Amino acid sequence: MQHAGKTIEIVEVGPRDGLQNEALLVSTTDKVELIRRCIAAGARRIEVASFVNPRKVPQMADAEAMITALGRPVGVTRIGLVLNLRGAERALAAGVDQLGAVAVASDTFGVRNQGQDTWQSVAEAKAIVAMAQAAGRVAQVTIAAAFGCPFEGEIDPARVTEMARQLAEAGPCEVALADTIGVAVPVQVSALVSAVRAAIAPLPVRVHFHDTRGTGVANAWAAAKAGAVTVDASLGGLGGCPFAPGAAGNVATEDVAYLFARSGVETGLDLAKLIEASHWLSSVMGKAMPASLAKAVPFPPQAQP
Ligand code: ZN
Repeated sequence: MQHAGKTIEIVEVGPRDGLQNEALLVSTTDKVELIRRCIAAGARRIEVASFVNPRKVPQMADAEAMITALGRPVGVTRIGLVLNLRGAERALAAGVDQLGAVAVASDTFGVRNQGQDTWQSVAEAKAIVAMAQAAGRVAQVTIAAAFGCPFEGEIDPARVTEMARQLAEAGPCEVALADTIGVAVPVQVSALVSAVRAAIAPLPVRVHFHDTRGTGVANAWAAAKAGAVTVDASLGGLGGCPFAPGAAGNVATEDVAYLFARSGVETGLDLAKLIEASHWLSSVMGKAMPASLAKAVPFPPQAQP
């Protein structure tokens, strides 16, 4: 096992993964405000929207309008999630900086999520990477349900490693391992991150955890120790998946930022600003956020005036 490095990148996925499963339709204006607050707190790579069928994911129906309203914040990479070539065409036309493609580790979940079995989803993701490259842009690929499937249960790590190896051939900027339904535990994360790293080096490994069973922050730490260099997180811990029954929110950005900051690993994020943004998001959503840090008092204690 490797030691965690001195820095780790946190990709903010709240505007996409965080919002997509929420029944409350958030306005385009509030989505742009959410992204601006994340940027103000230090986020430099943000999954801003998904380009999917608006009938299936109504929250993302304003993807193009939102990106137009957001503009091109300086120094920020805007990721658009896409599940097929049609979505990739829309995302490129909308002007996103980076495409995020998704391959699914189980056939059943792949068909439910995006109408593709595992190897069809690998082929489609590779085609999306090629389309991004042809347009002079970058793409990354996420392997969904890499640690377990809501329908098929355990996933063979060798299957995930082989998927990663094949996806890497297309030349994405990274391959991510996603615990879409939040079943992973740290020992499993260490083993799979290490195996995939070895299979795709020098391409980096990103990880994506949902905190359904309380292991999200521990998994983020295990992944960093095993050499993952990027962790996805969602402000407030908002999130879920419309096609994965029982999936809870993403690991919370403020909780992961606290973990790394107190462990001497630089994230570039400002905790106080994250918590302020999380409270704002809570007021927009009309409910408390799952994140632990948004509910806790600051530590170390702030000086009394
Ligand atoms: Zn997710």
